[in-house]
Amino acid sequence: MVSFIPPRSVAELEVQFGVRYPQTIGSLINGDRVEDGEETWSLQYPATEEVFASGVSLAKEKAADVAEQAAAAFKAGDWRLKPLSERQAIFYRVADQILKHKDELAFIQALETGIPYKQFQGFHVPRAAENFRFFADVASTFAGETYQQMERYLSLTLHEPIGVGLVVAPWNAPLALASMKIAACLITGNSCIVKPSEYTPYSVLRLAECVIEAGVPSTAVHVVNGLGPKAGAALVESPSVDAINFVGGTETGKRIMAAASGTLKKIGLELGGKSANIVLKSADFERALDGSLMSIFAGNGEQCLVGSRIMIERSIYEEFASAFVERAANLKIGDPFADDVEIGPLAFKSHYDRVCSYVGIAQEEGSEILCGGGRPEGADRGFFIEPVVARAQNNDARICQEEIFGPYASLMPIDDLDQGIELANQSDFGLVSYIWTDDVPSMMKASTGIRAGTVWVNTPVARDLRAHFGGYKQSGIGRDGLPGSIELFTEQKTVMLPTNPLFMPKLGTS
Ligand code: NAD
Repeated sequence: MVSFIPPRSVAELEVQFGVRYPQTIGSLINGDRVEDGEETWSLQYPATEEVFASGVSLAKEKAADVAEQAAAAFKAGDWRLKPLSERQAIFYRVADQILKHKDELAFIQALETGIPYKQFQGFHVPRAAENFRFFADVASTFAGETYQQMERYLSLTLHEPIGVGLVVAPWNAPLALASMKIAACLITGNSCIVKPSEYTPYSVLRLAECVIEAGVPSTAVHVVNGLGPKAGAALVESPSVDAINFVGGTETGKRIMAAASGTLKKIGLELGGKSANIVLKSADFERALDGSLMSIFAGNGEQCLVGSRIMIERSIYEEFASAFVERAANLKIGDPFADDVEIGPLAFKSHYDRVCSYVGIAQEEGSEILCGGGRPEGADRGFFIEPVVARAQNNDARICQEEIFGPYASLMPIDDLDQGIELANQSDFGLVSYIWTDDVPSMMKASTGIRAGTVWVNTPVARDLRAHFGGYKQSGIGRDGLPGSIELFTEQKTVMLPTNPLFMPKLGTS
């Protein structure tokens, strides 16, 4: 039985949390909030549908100007020429600054997205601080290489900042994601421009203010708010931008890749997923159940890395599915600011309508809705949906092939691990995957057999910042994590030095 916790109004929340969300959100350019622009859009609190602010889109030409200014600051060396030890010290202060504003930053993100406050406050914001600490720590280990293979030469490779890095961010984990990219971009001395999602303009702007308050020059980090196809596109096309780290939907990623080709920018794309979660009979049943629920329902299921295709070995299918449905139907839905709420409203109306449409799609294609899909009782407004569990007709069903990006799990029985791996790979995506088993050979077989950027064995989401993160196939290009993100935001240069004066043929003397 779904229990619904009614949401409070924005005004009540602002009083209770002591945070006032500004009426108008523009961009942050050279440390100044700039609120003039060409278009505006409304920000709606997804739990009550109240319009609480409006975003202002920076005009295309102004967005292009920001890129030029960031390039000029890079050239001038405001940030690039600071000693590494100073950049590291500033990064540690950024982390402190983020934690000082933890409750405010969690409040803003929960208001903008409807994802439970507790998840932002307890995990995402501390993670954002940790991201800056991490890149400050590892910066001491950045080094070039020396090669001596060629007789009489030393070949040195240097890793230099690329110039202006553009971070284009989605709405679903505003700070945890943007902080990782901004930190990776800035630590090597680049200038950074962030283009946040239209749905989360203020959380990222406040993050950038924390970065500047801690000592990063305001000329080195800018936030351009605005409409993706306008302000975002102007930045992508700007010749002053040297590298793009895009996190968002696969179709947008394709557009950005095409647009970036005009100036041959380096790009990293972190895109959508439809990840397999394989549960074998050799798994610890309770742990697999808890982990599978976490992996699809945390963050409202609005996460790229959800384990949304749950494949269960046939001999335990009925028992697992019925326990899963019982728990899913018991999730607490409602007020994203209530302590015990586990699922908030979906982020915005068109997204909500799209997620809801997969109930009808499932039924039309012969899949069975085992629970959820309706409005929770008592929810007379807000973009709330009861978490959905469906038994998929087969892996070709749209509910198994399309990213739904909500609290929607598709279950399927499988004969054995081999079939699980085969079905896991029958997907255009390949972001992550999960395997639940206590049998070591099965762990190894799944780890090598599944074509996805990450295989999580007996764990829901776990990120090690040193390790690669990214997607196979249409889930992306390039890798996040220490080696990949630094590679994206740096140029590699080779310097060749003869160890002794060289014999030079004297051209033009005979
Ligand atoms: P989206 O693709 O709609 O938007 C992402 C960003 O791109 C926004 O800032 C938007 O304004 C901008 N944008 C849109 N069109 C643009 C254009 N033509 N030029 C420049 N910028 C443009 O994605 P979303 O709805 O914000 O986020 C959800 C998607 O993100 C899901 O598909 C999810 O899987 C994916 N995602 C992936 C990862 C990952 O690590 N792989 C992480 C989080 C989210």
